Amino acid sequence: MAIRIIVLLGAPGSGKGTTAEKIRDRLGAVHLSTGDMLRAAVQAGTPTGREADACMKKGELVPDDVMVRLVEDRLDEGAAATLYLLDGFPRTTAQARLLETCLTARGGSIARVVFLDAPRDVLIDRLTGRRICRQCGMNFHVRNIPPRKEGVCDACGGELYQRPDDNRETIENRLDVYASQTSDLIDLYTKRGLLSRVDSAQGADALAEEVASIVQPE
Ligand SMILES: [Zn+2]
Repeated sequence: MAIRIIVLLGAPGSGKGTTAEKIRDRLGAVHLSTGDMLRAAVQAGTPTGREADACMKKGELVPDDVMVRLVEDRLDEGAAATLYLLDGFPRTTAQARLLETCLTARGGSIARVVFLDAPRDVLIDRLTGRRICRQCGMNFHVRNIPPRKEGVCDACGGELYQRPDDNRETIENRLDVYASQTSDLIDLYTKRGLLSRVDSAQGADALAEEVASIVQPE
């Protein structure tokens, strides 16, 4: 069977990663988060990882062709898996074109794009309250998803921390950048009839249910 991709689009704090984790097993899908893929490739010292690492060390953005190679590496690795939840990529129309070329070469396609849309104040609240496990990367929120014990990960007992770029000023800036980058991308996927918009201000479980029902209709 051919590769099928579900793209999860949404600003930082919209719940892409959490949603993907909640629905991947049910869909039999593989969750590809570009953040995780970058970290893994850098750690493993793959050629793509070394190239990405060099850019990040210089304080530069990882170029589109490196990002798409990261995705390609993973698609070529997982021969058996046919459905992928792609989270964090593409973010621009240029990246979308690269992804399309890569999929066409493999006989694959984008099955659906789900845009997780939430008001700005909701995103800011989620990001300022976010706490992440140092060991396993699991996400918590001081109010919405509190850990059973303060500062300690429920899953692995690791220490929870606040990402340095989860402060108010940086968040405002990240949201602005995201909105300006993705407006054309949202138009592109809308025109192709691929885009479904969901309200991501709802609770995490309800959101996951809605996304699952969209990408796998009964
Ligand atoms: Zn943990």
